[in-house]
Amino acid sequence: MSSFEIESLLHENRRFAPPAGFGEGAWIKSLEHYRELCARAEADPEGFWADLARSELHWFTPWQQVLDWQEPTARWFVGGKLNLSYNCLDRHLQMRGDKVAVLWEGEPGEVRALSYRELHAEVCRFANALKGLGVGKGDVVAIYMPLVPEAAVAMLGCARIGAPHTVVFGGFSSDALRDRLIDARARVVVTADGGWRKGAIIPLKPRVDEAVAQAPGVAHVICLKRAGQQVAMEPERDHWWHELVASQSAECPAEAMDSEDLLFILYTSGTTGKPKGVVHTTGGYNLYTHITSKWIFDLHDEDTYWCTADVGWITGHSYVVYGPLSNGATTFMFEGAPNQPDPGRFWQLIEKHRIGIFYTAPTAIRTFIKWGDDWPARCDLSSLRLLGTVGEPINPEAWMWYYRVIGQERCPIVDTWWQTETGGIMITPLPGATTTKPGSATMPFPGIVADVVDREGNSCPPNQGGYLVVRRPWPSMLRTVYRDPERYRQNYWSQIPHAYFAGDGARRDEEGYFWVMGRVDDVINVSGHRLGTMEIESALVSHPAVAEAAVVGRPDELKGEAIVAFVTVESEVEMTPQLLDELRAHVVKEIGALARPEEIRYAEALPKTRSGKIMRRLLRSLASGSDLTGDTSTLEDRSVLEKLREG
Ligand code: ATP
Ligand code: MG
Repeated sequence: MSSFEIESLLHENRRFAPPAGFGEGAWIKSLEHYRELCARAEADPEGFWADLARSELHWFTPWQQVLDWQEPTARWFVGGKLNLSYNCLDRHLQMRGDKVAVLWEGEPGEVRALSYRELHAEVCRFANALKGLGVGKGDVVAIYMPLVPEAAVAMLGCARIGAPHTVVFGGFSSDALRDRLIDARARVVVTADGGWRKGAIIPLKPRVDEAVAQAPGVAHVICLKRAGQQVAMEPERDHWWHELVASQSAECPAEAMDSEDLLFILYTSGTTGKPKGVVHTTGGYNLYTHITSKWIFDLHDEDTYWCTADVGWITGHSYVVYGPLSNGATTFMFEGAPNQPDPGRFWQLIEKHRIGIFYTAPTAIRTFIKWGDDWPARCDLSSLRLLGTVGEPINPEAWMWYYRVIGQERCPIVDTWWQTETGGIMITPLPGATTTKPGSATMPFPGIVADVVDREGNSCPPNQGGYLVVRRPWPSMLRTVYRDPERYRQNYWSQIPHAYFAGDGARRDEEGYFWVMGRVDDVINVSGHRLGTMEIESALVSHPAVAEAAVVGRPDELKGEAIVAFVTVESEVEMTPQLLDELRAHVVKEIGALARPEEIRYAEALPKTRSGKIMRRLLRSLASGSDLTGDTSTLEDRSVLEKLREG
């Protein structure tokens, strides 16, 4: 075995210190402060988390043991009792009862603001309604909704009575919904008559009807009136939300949950294969999403914070709903698409609602770049003070655009690496402390012991790529894969000895900064050199004509694998043979001859998951001319594949 697993070719030298003065008002004030926290966590990991759990959360009953770790099973705050919805609502009522908790805008433009007091009442009514249907502790509730305040109400209502939820993204088909209902053994589905997306109404209830017809475990469907659609209502089974909650009391005591009680099941995005039902529990998840929200987004009482994720993804769970509300923040939700009615919508929303903190995904940023600088330029973005990104590695050029055009060189960017499985952000800058480098998620959150290792688990030397792992359990780590403990052990705890294997490749530079290089599954082996996808893609994207790029390997007799690149170009650019040559030469100039693509294919669009991640495994099949096998249930748009196949 070679001493390194993935070769690194790209070297990014730009760096950005925290803006002057940012640290003074921030929770984490400086690099020294960050290092102090890391040192404290290193010296006494359990004490570190226990102190935070005591000072940041409300517990009904204290725990007896901070951590019970029997690899691969972790139990945090053993014996402790708390309730996540209590921590998100009740404890803020006295100090912040009239403060806006959820600020929402629908795609057609209507605005709603729910104060903490109002949200608390809504959640209690909904929780009582669930109880009225016989839902109790341990009964799984599926939530299949548009991005409306009631989605958060439903989640918090479940958490309040100890009914685990499984949120299914409203864009998924009835088949994808059915599979999740069956796998999760859901008893109730919460949905709406429809939701707005791209100027049209998504027919949610009809899809629920189809799915439930094949999921006999579902006894009740609760339907919110949102889009004024005519829908079929099955007597006994189906209930209108407004009718159900109308008679309910606005008081519902929060159930004292065991710290390790099941909080939710959430299926991964399916970028690399069949989605996994990730299990999260109560205490550790509450603590970790709380403290990461506070320190990474530097939440203060006067902030309006916007994470653009749907609640159907882990980002929506941790950083739209639970983390911000646990901190008593104002969290903004937008139901619709970023180009509805025009590509300026997000920037108009930031101006209108005076958004201070904005957290989105690289796929969105690449789309904004494509739409052009004029749209943001027309809006007043001066309220922004902090930007974030999550979901995929961000190409340095996209990072620079975000920094320059959206942040106006004033806002620090937090590039946050994490997964559905990790529950919360693991590697990230802290905005008042960390000097950032475009394309690097920088350093682990205090208390997180991340490393880059070879297959035996030895740390790789600086700048040599390897496997990204976490060496010590952390509070919000997944507890298992739902009803599949073997898959849990196999996937995460058996690849590298005594470490959590994330499935991503990374390198660490001489200053300890982490650079995620792409999925380990996507590594390309060219003449014995193992190359990650991120660096080659970033080299392509750094050419002004290229909007997005995805590279994959195709079997090659001579080299083992040859690099095939799929690229989309900026709106005004036309793909020509000259441009193809130019792009090849550009990659060679940027990162070297080894990375020269054998073939570059023009793509109108790239195949992505519904959460916007490039699905390279499908492109790999296309490039090698083999059949498309494997799970495509989370693919966003099938026609993209058809077009690529024809093209
Ligand atoms: P599946 O596990 O089903 O293949 P998925 O990995 O896309 O799907 P998620 O949990 O939504 O499911 O995504 C986590 C992954 O997203 C990470 O493992 C990593 O590959 C990528 N990722 C997220 N944030 C970042 C980031 N800031 N930098 C680089 N990669 C990131
Ligand atoms: Mg994954």
